[in-house]
Amino acid sequence: MRNEIFVNVGPRETRVAVRESDKIVELHIERSNERGVVGGIYKGRVTRVLPGMQAAFVDIGLERAGFLYVGDYRSELDDADLDDENGGGRSRRRSGPPPQIEDVLQEGNEVVVQVSKEPLGTKGARITSRISIPGRHLVLMPWVSRVGVSRRIEGDRERRRLRAIVEKYRPSELGFIVRTVSHGVSEADIKADIDYLTNLWTEIQKRKEAIREVPALIHCEPSLHLRVLRDMASPRPRISYYSHPQPLFDAWKIENEIEEGLGRKVWLKSGGYLIFDQGEALTAVDVNTGRYTGGRGRNLEDTILKTNLEAVREIVHQLRFRNLGGLIILDLIDMESAANRDKVYRALAEALREDKAKVNILKISELGLIEMTRKRTRESLGQQLCDSCPTCEGKGYLQSSQTISNRIFRDLPKAATYLHGATLRVQAHPSVTQILLGEAVEGLAKVQTRIGRELAVEAMPSFQPEQYEIVSEGPRVALLAPSVAEIELQFDIAPEPLPLEEDFTEDEAKAEDLDGASADDTDADTDTGIEAELAGAPATSPEDEDSPIV
Ligand SMILES: [Zn+2]
Repeated sequence: MRNEIFVNVGPRETRVAVRESDKIVELHIERSNERGVVGGIYKGRVTRVLPGMQAAFVDIGLERAGFLYVGDYRSELDDADLDDENGGGRSRRRSGPPPQIEDVLQEGNEVVVQVSKEPLGTKGARITSRISIPGRHLVLMPWVSRVGVSRRIEGDRERRRLRAIVEKYRPSELGFIVRTVSHGVSEADIKADIDYLTNLWTEIQKRKEAIREVPALIHCEPSLHLRVLRDMASPRPRISYYSHPQPLFDAWKIENEIEEGLGRKVWLKSGGYLIFDQGEALTAVDVNTGRYTGGRGRNLEDTILKTNLEAVREIVHQLRFRNLGGLIILDLIDMESAANRDKVYRALAEALREDKAKVNILKISELGLIEMTRKRTRESLGQQLCDSCPTCEGKGYLQSSQTISNRIFRDLPKAATYLHGATLRVQAHPSVTQILLGEAVEGLAKVQTRIGRELAVEAMPSFQPEQYEIVSEGPRVALLAPSVAEIELQFDIAPEPLPLEEDFTEDEAKAEDLDGASADDTDADTDTGIEAELAGAPATSPEDEDSPIV
């Protein structure tokens, strides 16, 4: 597969698009005001230990405290070791029970940690003390003292050659993983990487010792375009400078793809389409046949199969491009035949092999749904590029002008019970005042008679569609007594009791904080692509190992 990487560096934003087989499969964006923190190494302070969660919060100087799970913490005494010969990347548990968080960490402790997962929304960053620093050919893992070779490097001879080179040059106390790109790389190039990473580590140690004020940043990853060259370019990349006046992303139609990647609807070549709905708890993808519904019986089933097959490939492409994570539900078009359902399922599994993120898919349910999870370490395209709509506050819809005008009708008699002005002025969006002064004008006259006030209506083009005000003006008049019906209405809806102070237990307060690191964060979720390469990588959570696809 030929890979192309497009790098667009602007004054405030760097964008990198990765293209495989004529499709943009990944888009990375880094803005100067919000440099990513993943990979950053910090000296932090433990602010809270949570035995119930077997985790701790660590202040690392970001807006929210980082979340350190006990499995990601390694104390200085810990003798975790790495063995690349045990195959399959299964974690080898140390003997004896795992340490308890309250035994290894106390509030106020200083710890050196690395961010393994970007803060997302209200969640703090996921952090680990199992530090790893990637170079071009190797990954330095200073907390182990052995050499591992990426599982993806094939051939015993090559594996032995690479291991021997690293053993020859590495300082004995530092561990290294040989990355997949090292296949066939010269001894000199690998030695250069060992030297670079060793110097960098010495530098980091010095900085760590010199720090007086905690929390502090000790080391951060290089900027996006350098990381991409380091991690994604082939061993001998051809690099060319684009100097044409037409912007790079326009010339290659990447802007169009980004635009599409932010929309809900994605067309399929067959005429069907996908709808992406990103909710708080999950992302739903709906597959539709669209215009084309040719034939019945056998033909129809074939059409559906064809659309579903095309859909799953496009869905995988969109999941990667949009970088959607968490729980994802695919609503495929129903298929009668079990064999066809199986074909679609296998096509999905096959397409997902291209995805570097860890995914887990379940069998098609009786309702024709596929549930899957996808792990990610950065925000989705939508989260990165969009704000929620200020008009509807993300709901996606507004109360209609009719509904608002009816609410105003109900509010006017109420307003007359506490506003003293002889005139009540209704200020509302023009779409609402149009109704009040049009089809509803007779009703308005009746209300005016009933409440004994002058009514004025004013269109406010600057208002939001749902926004309205009732203001009082003119000489002071007597208040309207609430009608019996209104009093009854008020008693119908019992006022909500205020919570008593002792209702807030400490557990609840904790639960609130833990929002910052809920469910999907509590499993070992440190897969950054680099770690996927680790041979015999330690401490992955058990559920990582039963994913059907890795
Ligand atoms: Zn909206």
